[in-house]
Amino acid sequence: MHLHGIHHVTAITADGPRNAEFYGGVLGLRLVKKTVNFDDPGAYHLYYGDANGSPGTALTFFEYPGARLGRAGESMVTRIDWSVPSTAALDWWERHLVGKAATERHPDYLDVWDHEGLVTRLVPVDGCENQAHANAPHIPGDVAMRRMIGVAAQSREPEHSALVLESLGFQRDGGEWRTGDGVRSAAYRLESSDGEVATSGAGTIHHVAWASLDEDHQGWLERAAAAGVQATPIVDRDYFRSIYFREPSGVLFELATDGPGFAIDEEPDALGLALRLPRQHEHLRPLLEERLTPIPDPWAPYR
Ligand code: ZN
Repeated sequence: MHLHGIHHVTAITADGPRNAEFYGGVLGLRLVKKTVNFDDPGAYHLYYGDANGSPGTALTFFEYPGARLGRAGESMVTRIDWSVPSTAALDWWERHLVGKAATERHPDYLDVWDHEGLVTRLVPVDGCENQAHANAPHIPGDVAMRRMIGVAAQSREPEHSALVLESLGFQRDGGEWRTGDGVRSAAYRLESSDGEVATSGAGTIHHVAWASLDEDHQGWLERAAAAGVQATPIVDRDYFRSIYFREPSGVLFELATDGPGFAIDEEPDALGLALRLPRQHEHLRPLLEERLTPIPDPWAPYR
């Protein structure tokens, strides 16, 4: 039993429409689901990803309008790394992002800041050109972002996480931990914190979810308990099932199943266009449709 890389990463934004314009429009990810935070249905939960929102490509945001900017740091995931097919793709993105986002080019990667300070790192990965992507009408397929290949997080005592990470099947590889294999593998880089207090808020990451096979999920709950972490019971998120706990560095982990996926309540061609609500919150629809700021299809200007 092992984890299969990243399932999704969830962050916080204060401005859903602008967030969609950036991740859907500028970065060309597909908005695959527009729903609400199941635990706080007054807030949007927006999902971006490849054409199907496949595990490993799902980047999601809770929207809290007017939320103050947070500060990334200790006990948080601070950066998401995505694969792109080549160094030439980095050149393309660097040019494409002029006037749209702050960037910093390094020989081996390109760091990109969104308007709230969240960092995406684009990294060329040999052999990823044949992997699925979002098929955005305005982003050439040979440069499009492919998968989340790792996250960086900060810890006061990175070594305190070692036992739990080992119990979860992560393997130490130089300065990072790795889980999964082949296409579905990812790195967890636990860096020493800079000592400044982190604050949750817009532009910071809420949690990282690692991918579990459906049939392994109960086993992971038992494994987490045996490792001594306080895990929630299995929670039904409609599109997947989840277990949550904080690893010893304080970073919120989720273990999420591949199935059933985002196509259970929408046709593949129509993913992300309508507001979808879980059954328990469907009665709130008139109120939510009045309150939530409409989010236009971010690809509409390019179709
Ligand atoms: Zn999650």
